[in-house]
Amino acid sequence: MKPGMTSQQWLDVAVVGAGPAGLYAAEALLNQKDVAVRIHLIERLPVPFGLLRYGVAPDHQNIRAVRQNLAPLLVQPDLKFYGNIALGRDISVAELRASVDAVIYAYGAAGDRRLDIPGEALKGCAAATDFVAWYCGNPDACLGNFESALKVTKSVVVIGVGNVAIDVSRILAKSRAGLSHTEMPEHVLEALGNSAVTDIHVIGRRGPAQASFTTKELRELGELADADVFVDANDLQLDPVSAAAVAGNRALARNIDVLREWSQRKPTGKLKRIHLHFFLRPVALSGAESVTAIRFERTRIDDTGNCRGTGEHHQIEAQLVLRSIGFRGKHIEGLPFDVELNRIPNLEGRVLRDGRVACGEYVSGWIRRGPIGVLGTNKLDASESVAALLADAPALLAAKDGARTELDDLVRSRALRRCELPNWHAIDAAEKLLGQSRGRDRTIIHRLESLLEAGGA
Ligand code: NAP
Repeated sequence: MKPGMTSQQWLDVAVVGAGPAGLYAAEALLNQKDVAVRIHLIERLPVPFGLLRYGVAPDHQNIRAVRQNLAPLLVQPDLKFYGNIALGRDISVAELRASVDAVIYAYGAAGDRRLDIPGEALKGCAAATDFVAWYCGNPDACLGNFESALKVTKSVVVIGVGNVAIDVSRILAKSRAGLSHTEMPEHVLEALGNSAVTDIHVIGRRGPAQASFTTKELRELGELADADVFVDANDLQLDPVSAAAVAGNRALARNIDVLREWSQRKPTGKLKRIHLHFFLRPVALSGAESVTAIRFERTRIDDTGNCRGTGEHHQIEAQLVLRSIGFRGKHIEGLPFDVELNRIPNLEGRVLRDGRVACGEYVSGWIRRGPIGVLGTNKLDASESVAALLADAPALLAAKDGARTELDDLVRSRALRRCELPNWHAIDAAEKLLGQSRGRDRTIIHRLESLLEAGGA
């Protein structure tokens, strides 16, 4: 903001969500010179970075390091960070709308999808997103369940063949030595390092040509120090629909090449085994209180590339079943939500209410396009949403209400334990210190209360 400017000359923009989608939107707003903006970055958790901290696998340190590029945004004079403030819980959508000129909703898709099959409520069946939250040290994660489960689990079934399924399988297959350099909380490292797991079964309901993992992530499974990888060559025989898909797509062809090479490998006697299975559709989980096995129906690919049951069944014993079948966006009261498309309805980043563009409301990231795409997709998304906002800027400035309650006053009036920049810096320093005491760059503080205490909030 230039000295001497009045509030009538700048746009107050709230960005909801301090994950990659929100931070890229903030970056795009700060990097432009056409409109003066003041950004209010609101985050439900006490700390910034969203999936860069709580989603990207802890052993993918290069991707997690993107935080270092985005961290300077937080100290920009025209950006204010409000952590531990949840839209819909601490402030309503209507209140937020009334206290700023524009809002960019970029709060992601933190929910999980369900299989809707019998036995899903058994102990030992969980969402892969909960497992990811746990091993990344997200304060939302339930503590204790995975620690106990890993002590007695020999066989894990991971349902789904996307990159999240690959991440959780790789983390389960690594030894303590393979994870000790990461930022994982100490009790997570201990539980994973001492786990009884020997076999990890990764299950696709369709074939390898329909799997959504990417080759780079897939390959890593075949390079693990402590796990052999197995795939049945029969699953790699391509039906005409799959063969056509692979012939027209180099990324799919590379996946098939990797899988074919693995199907020829002989076991080398490593401590753990990862088994990739295809054409198995989950039917039911069995067990008394806890899951002991999961039953599948064998499938085949139909003319449209979807799967059809063949009536043949197959069972895999497992004490832990992780469903890794995608994320679900959250409906926040006061916002429209398209349940079918799993996102806020929008037209190129402008929120649609009852099919019409809503004034001053924008959306970016997973809650805009659904839970698909890699990190860089959020950057593209953000630049488009911010371009829409900037195009609307003259109208938004003209509609400014000089007598409104400022967001800062609104937040303070709620006497919340908010985490602003100094609080985040204190948490950051505490985590680095904790990490250094164990020979690592950082150890993530897991519990919400401990995070707030470390931040002095
Ligand atoms: P995803 O790629 O959409 O994979 C979901 C998997 O679940 C698919 O194999 C899907 O099979 C299967 N599935 C869905 N419903 C099912 C059901 N009822 N029964 C059995 N299987 C079912 O989702 P994701 O792995 O959660 O990843 C989300 C996004 O994050 C992706 O864009 C991913 O690339 C990205 N991501 C990237 C990285 C990375 O770059 N390293 C890491 C993690 C995540 P169908 O195809 O048959 O529906």
